[in-house]
Amino acid sequence: MRQLHAGGGHAVVIAGAGPTGLMLAGELALGGADVAIVERRTSQGLVGQRAGGLHSRTIEVLDQRGIADRFLAAGQVAQVAGFAQIRLDISDFPTPHPYGLALWQGDIERILADWVTELGVPIYRGTEVRGLRQHDGGVDIELSDGRTTRADYLVGCDGGRSVIRKAAGIGFPGWDPTTSYLIALAEVADEPPWGIRRDAVGIHGFSRQDDGPVRIMVTERQLRSSAGEPTLADLRAAVAAVYGSDFGIHTPTSIARFTDVTRQASAYRSGRVLLAGDAAHIHHPAGGQGLNTGVQDAVNLGWKLAQVVNGVSPPSLLDTYHDERHPVGARVLHTTLAQIALLRTDDRTAALHDTMSELLGMDEPRKRLAAQMSGLDIRYDCGDGHPLLGRRMPDLHLDSGTGRRVFTLLHEARPVLLSFGGAPRVSGWTDRVRSVPAGFTGTWELPVLGAVEAAAAVLIRPDGHVAWVGDESAAGLTETLTTWFGPARAPG
Ligand SMILES: Cc1cc2nc3c(=O)[nH]c(=O)nc-3n(C[C@H](O)[C@H](O)[C@H](O)COP(=O)(O)OP(=O)(O)OC[C@H]3O[C@@H](n4cnc5c(N)ncnc54)[C@H](O)[C@@H]3O)c2cc1C
Repeated sequence: MRQLHAGGGHAVVIAGAGPTGLMLAGELALGGADVAIVERRTSQGLVGQRAGGLHSRTIEVLDQRGIADRFLAAGQVAQVAGFAQIRLDISDFPTPHPYGLALWQGDIERILADWVTELGVPIYRGTEVRGLRQHDGGVDIELSDGRTTRADYLVGCDGGRSVIRKAAGIGFPGWDPTTSYLIALAEVADEPPWGIRRDAVGIHGFSRQDDGPVRIMVTERQLRSSAGEPTLADLRAAVAAVYGSDFGIHTPTSIARFTDVTRQASAYRSGRVLLAGDAAHIHHPAGGQGLNTGVQDAVNLGWKLAQVVNGVSPPSLLDTYHDERHPVGARVLHTTLAQIALLRTDDRTAALHDTMSELLGMDEPRKRLAAQMSGLDIRYDCGDGHPLLGRRMPDLHLDSGTGRRVFTLLHEARPVLLSFGGAPRVSGWTDRVRSVPAGFTGTWELPVLGAVEAAAAVLIRPDGHVAWVGDESAAGLTETLTTWFGPARAPG
């Protein structure tokens, strides 16, 4: 077997250097795993427009790694959360980032790729994964250049048409498309009507940023989901059908078609193969959930997979990735289906949209849906009891004299045991868990729930979710530490 590099294979190979694959690579590198990416594209450059921003929770997870500033400096902070184009303001939410960020996917990928390169992860570009074979010793990965490489685990972050998902025999059930859209960057000979237009066919729009190309989106009169790559003639015809003119569209930089096809992988893990991002879930872009969900899949999976390949935890820990993220993906699909229904342009749906808009003007419904769309309300099953359990740890400003914030403690992607008083003993885990005594005098506040009872001690997972809440007596702590961070080891 020829290997990816002279030294042999890698413990983890990721197929795809999109936002999900890049984030996962960074997480694995921080976790000390030997990881590499195999990417079909020859450069990180992204042709065409895709995601246009980040939601609050995604900015938070980047903040937990100390890289949020890079994104904030490149984009424009704004209230981007919405439901079926009904704006949901989150400026009153208890988060260091009560907003979203307008930033094109090309820039997001560039910043993530720089980070991953700094962390020393090799990206083998211009190479495709073509197939795989799992066995007891690992997974053999067939590459487009004829080589085969072996890894302990292969993660398919290779987008909606995932080769890895198909090769692993994982089903992708869901809903067939009902509508198709063309998006393009091009020049126009005649001035088009700028802005959004709604009609019986759907939603269309022309926009332009500075001196850049014109951004065009048009809903096609008839669903064309498997009609091959769209051409300039298709674009002109679709625009003319809506506007009565094609405005002399010419010199396209990119033309792409997307639909409202909605599907989710039936399993996120099959033995040594895992799926994340669009490879695991696809849906209409309304609500801007796709990239955000993929990045957050990566943050849930990264530390777990690093622990497994480093021999710290058994492979069964990886099943919690499916258990935790599959329901999150299913909920994203569900809300997206609801938005598509509400975005229909007939009079009856428009009346329903107005009613929904009125309801979302009320505080309680706004908060609930805004927390969902911004990713701030995600709760994993970490047992019942304190409301913090399974939820994201708030970014408390700790008064331990150092001006530290909780998110700063998570930069290394290691678990943290934070105690506000007598510290519980974690002697069998000192090699993995950082114990931090701290003080905090403010209010513990969560999105939607509001103020919650202060905790005496919390165990925070590397992804920022709370695994345990307790006090000096440490009841249940040993079991929780074993579940998430492997068995105790004798100190030294
Ligand atoms: C019009 C539009 C607007 C959108 N707007 C938003 C938005 O506002 N917010 C949002 O969150 N999301 C949005 N999305 C969705 C977002 O673009 C995707 O969810 C996101 O790109 C998924 O990232 P990913 O890394 O999982 O997959 P991808 O971005 O698809 O990346 C997959 C990578 O794998 C590579 N690859 C594919 N096959 C192979 C192979 N066999 N071997 C090696 N490499 C391979 C590809 O070249 C690519 O680099 C939008 C999408 C569209 C189409």
